[in-house]
Amino acid sequence: MRPKLKDFYRNHMQAADQVIRIQTDLVRLEIPDPNGIIYRFMNQLTGLYTIEELAELCNLTEEDVKRGVSMLHNHKLLESDATDTYGLTQRELQRYRNNFTFYSVHESMLENRYLFQERLKHSSVAILGLGGGGLLATWLAAMGVGKIVGVDHDRVELNNLNRQILFTEDDIGKHKTDVIRERLQAMNRDIDVQVVNRQIDSAHSVKDIIKDVDVVVCVIDTPPVQASRYVNSACIQYRKPVFHAGLRHGSGFMYRVVPFETGCTDCLCMQSIRRNSKVFDTIKSISNGELDSHLFLNPSFAPNVSLLTSVLASEIAKYITKYSPMFPLPYTKINLQDMRLTHEEISRIEDCPSCGRSRVIGAEPVPLDALVKLGTEKMTVK
Ligand SMILES: [Zn+2]
Repeated sequence: MRPKLKDFYRNHMQAADQVIRIQTDLVRLEIPDPNGIIYRFMNQLTGLYTIEELAELCNLTEEDVKRGVSMLHNHKLLESDATDTYGLTQRELQRYRNNFTFYSVHESMLENRYLFQERLKHSSVAILGLGGGGLLATWLAAMGVGKIVGVDHDRVELNNLNRQILFTEDDIGKHKTDVIRERLQAMNRDIDVQVVNRQIDSAHSVKDIIKDVDVVVCVIDTPPVQASRYVNSACIQYRKPVFHAGLRHGSGFMYRVVPFETGCTDCLCMQSIRRNSKVFDTIKSISNGELDSHLFLNPSFAPNVSLLTSVLASEIAKYITKYSPMFPLPYTKINLQDMRLTHEEISRIEDCPSCGRSRVIGAEPVPLDALVKLGTEKMTVK
């Protein structure tokens, strides 16, 4: 092992008043250094010397050097000396050059920047809903996610063009799936883009799409709530992580469900019902045909769709590459007035009909009315 301090942090390292300071937007570190030994040691971390050589050069014991290296490694200040590019082609090394620069501050002695890209290359993501999902697909294709499966059943309409920027006026009337496939493939011919022209109207209707992918994204707006619940049931059956997202008038939200680790969509619905028993009245009115869902539930505005899909893409990248931990809690709310992000827990509920003890494997979600009834009864949080 020949430890090397990342150049980025070397450039931010300052020694004054017997303290070494490294202060960036990622790391704020102060190391007491009364006699300058640690500063000399850190300056020798050039990737040229072994632990034994460093000990001799800096007049330290090998144990001291190992302790120092371990501390700097834990703060991700050291980079990998591995030159393995994990089978990425010359074209990929060139194409994703700025990804590598981004990853470089996140890599460690154990995982280099190319490994993060290789994980993206060998990952597959199914995106259910290609309205806002089309923009998300763009980010994922640009980042280098190896396989993207897009699902929608709508055709492009004029009123989509206020925010679904992959479509042009010439696309009006075409299937969204066909247009998205063409655009993504033109953007990145190295990735595999597949599309399915289908309406998701049950858990059964989504199973063959999600069972072989690594990550599922549900951004279907119709039928509201129910579409997410269908996807939720199927993903629990196949134990697939799924990200859900949507926009309201004053806020956007996204949440991740890792089956049997986090609460699921039905757990979240039951928590919402417990807080406010009237929360699904609008949904029920829409289901009964009394209200137009687009007037009440789809205030999609281009900058907000862009913001939400960007945050979503960033979290998906963290999940796949593991370059950095995801948000600390699974539910994230974005305040669209001040762009503040807040994070909340989604507790698992023992009586949840989808992931709780009485769940029926492979079943469709219980009707919304039954869920509301369950939610208003006394609940036990796991
Ligand atoms: Zn649940």
